[in-house]
Amino acid sequence: MNIPQDTILRIREKFPILDREVYGRRLVYLDNAATSQTPRQVVETVDNMYYHTKANVHRGVHTLSQEATDMQEHTRRRVKEYINARSIEEIVFTRGTTEAINLVASSYGQAFLHDGDEIILTVMEHHADIVPWQLLQNRVKIKINVVPITPDGQLDLDVYRSLFNNRTRLVAFTHVSNVLGTVNPAKEIIAIAHDHGAHALVDGAQGVPHLKVDVQDLDADFYVFSSHKMYGPTGVGVLYGRRELLEKMPPYQGGGEMISHVSFEGTTFAELPFKFEAGTPDFVDIAAFNSAIDFIEETGMDIIAGQEHILLDHTTRRLVDEIPGIRIFGTAPDKSAVISFLLENAHHYDTGMLLDKLGIAVRTGHHCAQPLMTALGIEGTVRASFAVYNTIEEADAFVDALKRVNQILS
Ligand code: PLP
Repeated sequence: MNIPQDTILRIREKFPILDREVYGRRLVYLDNAATSQTPRQVVETVDNMYYHTKANVHRGVHTLSQEATDMQEHTRRRVKEYINARSIEEIVFTRGTTEAINLVASSYGQAFLHDGDEIILTVMEHHADIVPWQLLQNRVKIKINVVPITPDGQLDLDVYRSLFNNRTRLVAFTHVSNVLGTVNPAKEIIAIAHDHGAHALVDGAQGVPHLKVDVQDLDADFYVFSSHKMYGPTGVGVLYGRRELLEKMPPYQGGGEMISHVSFEGTTFAELPFKFEAGTPDFVDIAAFNSAIDFIEETGMDIIAGQEHILLDHTTRRLVDEIPGIRIFGTAPDKSAVISFLLENAHHYDTGMLLDKLGIAVRTGHHCAQPLMTALGIEGTVRASFAVYNTIEEADAFVDALKRVNQILS
């Protein structure tokens, strides 16, 4: 795909933060897998809401409250359409991917899992898709089975198939690895789970920002993601859940908004999705999330994914050709624009710190994927991750800076 430079420059203009300097140099922001930057139109929605429309949702007859409620519910409809859910009842707002998985582990765990049942995770999961299931083990004695990876960083599907037995109830896996970049064959993984009578949860934190996701086509039972990784505001996430399952699941938290009637004799709960949305939601950021979806749709997922792949290919080629001894973790054929690597003689932390001094923002460490680090036999990596507003010049600035860092550290 050929994307004119002008197209990317016009997109960049929407992100004022990209003009800032770090240590006297123009920032090169390559930490997009952790959080992406936010275009002006999203910030303006937040501003406008605080200046003109801030009132608590769902509780007021007055105009501001109704407008705020309309904005929040408009985003819900938009998200439903964006991921092609069947109904708005299937869209639950959370604080993020982490809260969405905790909700499912706790509530689905209570409704559907019993002592002796088994679930399947993968070794490339983010801690957000490991620890909630371990916490559930304090309440229900479930066994956790783990799918390993092949040397190029793909899930070993033969082992995956072999992990099922008649106690397997759920498979929970990441759509795209935040460390390796591997795009997992979600549809196939879900179909295999369903063939064995198990449900499937997809951690879409790294999926939705880079791929067009259709939850009906995937046939996912749960699909979860965070707004802040898709050019949106912080504090907002989405749990998509198949309606039949959500209906059978008990509330995750109790409080206002999620009830139908409360008395000391007993409480009845609100309908979906409100049953799972206790307390005042982050309605300002939910409203602004709509503007982030506007940005993605105006830009086009073909341009977003196209530019990210141009950057991934260009940068990977230069790193391999020009930096002797560099180790890149994750070389699956279907890979998103994440490059995790180690220089031959340098600690990941030192590499990241020196890159920062040269204006390049990358992430270092275990990336909340310690079991994967253990499987790879390392403590951490340096990770550069791209978004649509990154340019070839920035990719080159990164590689050139890394060559300098390599000389200093070796
Ligand atoms: N899952 C994956 C694959 C991630 O990359 C992340 C964040 O990096 C999360 C879950 C957690 O997302 P959040 O911190 O927005 O809840």
